[in-house]
Amino acid sequence: MAKSQRKFLIAGNWKMNKTAAEAVDLVKQIVAEVGKRTEVGVVVCPPFTSLESVAGALEGSTVRLGAQNLYPEPSGAFTGEVSAAMLRTLFVQYVILGHSERRQYFAETDIFINKKVLAALEANLSPIVCVGETLPEREGGQTLEVVQRQIEICLKGVTNAHTERLVIAYEPVWAIGTGKTATPAMAQEVQGAIRLLLNGQFGVAAAAKVRILYGGSMKPDNAESLLAEPDIDGGLIGGASLEAKSFVKIVHAAEKQIK
Ligand code: PEP
Repeated sequence: MAKSQRKFLIAGNWKMNKTAAEAVDLVKQIVAEVGKRTEVGVVVCPPFTSLESVAGALEGSTVRLGAQNLYPEPSGAFTGEVSAAMLRTLFVQYVILGHSERRQYFAETDIFINKKVLAALEANLSPIVCVGETLPEREGGQTLEVVQRQIEICLKGVTNAHTERLVIAYEPVWAIGTGKTATPAMAQEVQGAIRLLLNGQFGVAAAAKVRILYGGSMKPDNAESLLAEPDIDGGLIGGASLEAKSFVKIVHAAEKQIK
């Protein structure tokens, strides 16, 4: 499967921003611009508190709903947590897992992230699994080794049957929220290596279905050159997803690649 057969995916990670009312306002603007488009997959990931109202605002549009986390157990005494099945009842289809902020501030390990990935797949959700190196790791020449370890552990037990729903986001930690972006060549080098690892785990045909997003200060002015790379199948967008105008421009940048 060539890149042209994988549908681009542009996902907005709103992080801990927007009240429910603000979230609905933002998503209505996004839907007005790209809510009928089908060439590029568009996903918004608001905080848990806005999922239900955003789901309502997305009804009848092609924009999909994502969450920013889940807990891998089905139910029980896990105060403050939310299960995969609970997300499903709110019409959530995607879930961001292993974001570097969760690794950094909530001490999430690859082994724990792996449990979440399996729980998400089991519940028919599409996990967006985040991997990426820190600045010291890049400067120490360890980027590929770090990403390989993250991919191997986070995807343990994932099978060929899941690859259509599996999304990886390569997010160099030093590029997140900093305004520093990996050059297209730097991102492609790592994302090409990720594709080879996926080939090893799933076989070439099944691995070719996995979409690999780039994340880290993707903006309207750098999106086109990043999305032109052979193993960059979309973007996970933080800051630029909080305004409809910049987010929509990135969706248009992806659309341009297929015209
Ligand atoms: C992110 O948090 O996933 C991200 C890519 O953020 P930003 O676009 O703000 O760098």
